[in-house]
Amino acid sequence: MRLLIAMMKHETNTFSPVPTPLARFGHGPGPLYGEAAVKAYRGTGSGLGAYLDLALREGAQIVLPVAAGASPSRPVEDAAYEHIAGIICDSVAKGGFDGIMLDLHGAMVTESLEDGEGELLRRIRAIDAQTPIAVAYDMHANLYPAMVENATVVAGYRTYPHVDTYDTAKRAGEILFGAMRGRVRPVMAWGNVPMLPHVMRQGSDDHPNRELQARVAEMRNPGPDGGALDASLFTGFPHADITNAGLSAVVVTDGDRALAERLRDELLERAWAGREAFVYQLEPLEQSLARAAAIDPPTAGEGPIVLLDHYDNCASGGTMDTTAVLAAILRAGLDNVAAFAIYDPAAVGQAIAAGIGAEIALAVGGRMAMPQIPGESRPLTVTGTVKTISNGRFRNRGPMGRGVLTDMGPSVVIDTGKVEIALISRHVEPSDLNCFYALGIDPMQKRFLMLKSRIHWRAGLGNVAKAVVECAGMGVCTSDYSQLAFTKVRRPIYPLDLPNR
Ligand SMILES: [Zn+2]
Repeated sequence: MRLLIAMMKHETNTFSPVPTPLARFGHGPGPLYGEAAVKAYRGTGSGLGAYLDLALREGAQIVLPVAAGASPSRPVEDAAYEHIAGIICDSVAKGGFDGIMLDLHGAMVTESLEDGEGELLRRIRAIDAQTPIAVAYDMHANLYPAMVENATVVAGYRTYPHVDTYDTAKRAGEILFGAMRGRVRPVMAWGNVPMLPHVMRQGSDDHPNRELQARVAEMRNPGPDGGALDASLFTGFPHADITNAGLSAVVVTDGDRALAERLRDELLERAWAGREAFVYQLEPLEQSLARAAAIDPPTAGEGPIVLLDHYDNCASGGTMDTTAVLAAILRAGLDNVAAFAIYDPAAVGQAIAAGIGAEIALAVGGRMAMPQIPGESRPLTVTGTVKTISNGRFRNRGPMGRGVLTDMGPSVVIDTGKVEIALISRHVEPSDLNCFYALGIDPMQKRFLMLKSRIHWRAGLGNVAKAVVECAGMGVCTSDYSQLAFTKVRRPIYPLDLPNR
C-alpha cells in the first residue's frame, strides 16, 4: 500500500491585520517537508500523527511532501498558497498512490480564494479522478461544496478545545481504508444553515454544542437512529467575511444517500433550534474585573482565577498585542497575576538587552494597527524587573497537541511587583500549562491568570482553574460582532439579521 499524506492548515480571520506569508507556516521558518515533517509529527497527538500511525500499522509506504500549519491570521498570501498546494499536487501527479490522507483546516481563505481547501481538492481531482481521499477538518471549518464533493470521506473535530485532532484523522483514515478495500462505499450529504454561532458559545462542554456533538457521535451506532459511517457538525468560524461562513454538517454513510440526508437534516434542524444559545452576552470590562476581585482567592489545592482576554486571541487571528485588559488589571490593582502574553518582539529585544534583574520601563504592545475594527490600540508602558529570559520553546504536555514542539520565540517575563507579564515573539495561544512553566512561572501559585484565549485555554488549564471571568478587551476576535463589517457573508444570517424567532 502506498499513501500520500499532507497537511495544509490555516484558519483565516479576514478582519485580522496579521500577515500570512509562507514563513508563518510551521514551527520554524516555514513548512516542513518530507522526512523532517515525518519526524516532527510521528508519535504526536495531531491529525498527521494519526495518519502516520495508521500507515505504520498497515505497513504502507508513505510520501509526506509537506506539513504546513500557520496560526490564524489574515488571508493567506497567494504565493504561499500556490507553493503549498503546488507541492501537494506535484506529488499527486507522480501517481502510484492507493489513498490520499489530508489534514486540513476548512476555513482557509487566500488573497484570491474564499475556499482554499476546496480549491486544493478540486486541483487534486483534476489530476487524479480515482484515488480515494480522506480529509480531517477542524470544527471551525466553513464548508463549501468543493470541500466535500472532491473527497471520498471527510470528518470533523467533535471537541472544542480540539483534543480529538488525532481521533478525527483516525476515523477518516479508517473509512478510507474500508473504501480502498471495497468494504464500504462512502456517500456523503452536507448542508448548512444561515447562522453564525458565537465562538465564545461554541465550547463542546457547553450547551448547546455539547448535546449536538453527543448526537453526532451517536449517529455511528447501529440502529434506527444511527447507522452512519461518520458524522460531523461544524460550528464554523464567524470571523471570516466569506459567503459560506457559519454552521454546517456532513454525514457519511455506506452507500445510503437517503440516510445521510436524513441524519444531516436532523443535525442542521437541531442546531438551528439551538441558535439563541449560541449568542453571546457582553459585559463591560470594569464590571468583569470587579466581579473577579470579589471571588475568594484560591486556597491550597485550588487553581487560579482566569481572566479571559478573549477579544485578542492569536489562535483566531488576534494581534496578541492589545493592552486594554492588561491596562485595566494594572489600574484595578489586582495582585499575584500572571499575564500570557503580549506579542512584542521589539520589547522582548529591549528586555533581553537590559538583562535579567534589570529595572526597566517598557512600552509593550499596541504596535499593530487594526483598521477593520473601531478604536485605536495603543502601547502600554509598564515598569518592572526582567525576571526571565527564555528561547520560548517547550513541548506540549497536552491534552491538545501532546508532544508537539511549541515555539514562542525569544521570550521574557517582566515582573511589575503585582503582575508578571509574559512577552513573546511568536504567536502562541495559552492552551498548555507548559507555556507558563517554560517561562519560570508556576500558574498554580497565582491568584489570577490573564489569558489571551477564548476556548482553547480550557484544554490545559480548564480543569485547574478555580473560576473564569470573561473580559471584553480589544481586538479582531472581538466578541461584539456589531464591530465587524460583514459584506460578503450570505444574508440574511442569524444573529446579524434575524430576530429571535
Ligand atoms: Zn478550530
